[in-house]
Amino acid sequence: MSPHHGAPAPASCLFVNPAAPRRAGFQRDCGALFAQLRVADGAESASELLAQQPADLLVLDLERFEIGIDLAALGQLVAQRAGAPVLVLCPFTNARWLPALMAHGPLDYAIGPFGPGEPQPQVAARLAQGFTGAPAPGPVEVELASLLAVRSEAQQALAEADDSIRFGERLCVALQGWPGVLHAAMFQLHEGGDLRLEAQHGAAGLDLAAILGRAERLLQSPLRHAFPGLLAAASGEPALLDALDKAGEPELAQALHARGVQMVLGVPIPASGPGAPRGSLCLLFGHARPFSRAELGAFADLAQLAAFGLRMAEMMRESEELLGRVTQLATLDALTGVANRRHGEYLLEQEIKRARRYRLPLALIAFDIDRFRNINDAYGHPVGDVALRTVADTVRALLRSSDALVRSGGEEFQVIAPHTSAIDGLKLAEKLRAAIEQAEIPGCDHLTVSLGVAQLGELENGDSLAVRVNAALARAKRAGRNCVELAMQ
Ligand code: GH3
Ligand code: MG
Ligand code: MG
Repeated sequence: MSPHHGAPAPASCLFVNPAAPRRAGFQRDCGALFAQLRVADGAESASELLAQQPADLLVLDLERFEIGIDLAALGQLVAQRAGAPVLVLCPFTNARWLPALMAHGPLDYAIGPFGPGEPQPQVAARLAQGFTGAPAPGPVEVELASLLAVRSEAQQALAEADDSIRFGERLCVALQGWPGVLHAAMFQLHEGGDLRLEAQHGAAGLDLAAILGRAERLLQSPLRHAFPGLLAAASGEPALLDALDKAGEPELAQALHARGVQMVLGVPIPASGPGAPRGSLCLLFGHARPFSRAELGAFADLAQLAAFGLRMAEMMRESEELLGRVTQLATLDALTGVANRRHGEYLLEQEIKRARRYRLPLALIAFDIDRFRNINDAYGHPVGDVALRTVADTVRALLRSSDALVRSGGEEFQVIAPHTSAIDGLKLAEKLRAAIEQAEIPGCDHLTVSLGVAQLGELENGDSLAVRVNAALARAKRAGRNCVELAMQ
């Protein structure tokens, strides 16, 4: 640009885009803004044209360029400008280009798509501003200080990363400290592709769940292509809308405008491995303004930090689940799912203490499957296992929730029945006996059990109660099996 005062000096411009209709469109819409406008279809031809004759302004229209393929060459072009004005026209769905290109040199940018098909007002506005080569620099120290504060607060949020929602809320509070941010939100992808609004914080009266119409299954929302927070989580690319109506969702734009939002940024939270992002961070700004390279880099850092936090929360949840499973393994019998012998001993001790404290009766029933060896011999061990499970299920279905069923040995079980006297225990035992006798056992004949019943004595401990109940059970066996015997005091 010429340093003359007053009217902008005649300027020369080179426009770069691979698609002929885009080049023709730019020539048609913006040709009048320049004394000379040349076009190129790629970085290489642009570089040659610039070598032949420099241009005051280089316009890189990124539509149709592929970041994976073209970044290096376009970056070189930016570097070649050595600070001379570059205007990047960036699609709102792929703001990743901006920090990547800024790494090669200063540039100004405008976010597309543009009006009804043309970037003319944006380019004219930039021309009127004059090109400094960098976006309107704010008070750098202030900005830097607030970014550092946001980062240190966000790091503190990691201390709450045992729970993803609490972590998200802390992080959103931290993000609120970003210059110009009205409202911050975190979206997280849950199992089954369910993207949820995990946390949000900011402007009073602004509820993203209300604006988006829901807080769950957001990848199935019609707004997933328009709202930067959803777009970033769906595509894995940062998305930046600096004019809300560009997304083609007038209602969304109106709802956000009504709450003072002028610009929305969505940054994907990277996954730890390949595949869909873990979610996204979303920032709602009260004013549209260009970001510096440092800011865009800081957003990416924060998204990485969010990824750490969410991974930590996930690991914490997994280890709690694991602990639950280990506890279950340690207390339950694998074949029947009832309490194992060791846990049964513990439960009996607990119930004895309780019975003593509240002066309530406690009954213990022991039962053993009759002639079970014959079942194994006749039908095989696997059928024997099924029979054991069927017996356990049959009994469990008849017990109260306060009763406990224990597998005390191979084909021996106990029922701990709190608040139950000897008489009630006898009735219960008889009910169990009759039900087992009736139960259909897949793959073999009906079977029977013999049972002993004992009521806890005043000064008795668990061991002596077990001895008495087993003696009663042995008597039931001797009495001919398939019957109930009451233990003697
Ligand atoms: P009784 O009427 O005197 O109790 O006769 P019984 O055959 O049931 O007595 P015994 O105690 O001699 O036999 C118990 C059988 O239970 C022997 C063992 O193979 C079988 N058993 C123990 N645990 C399991 C198991 O987990 N699965 C299967 N299928 N069989 C088991
Ligand atoms: Mg037996
Ligand atoms: Mg036995």
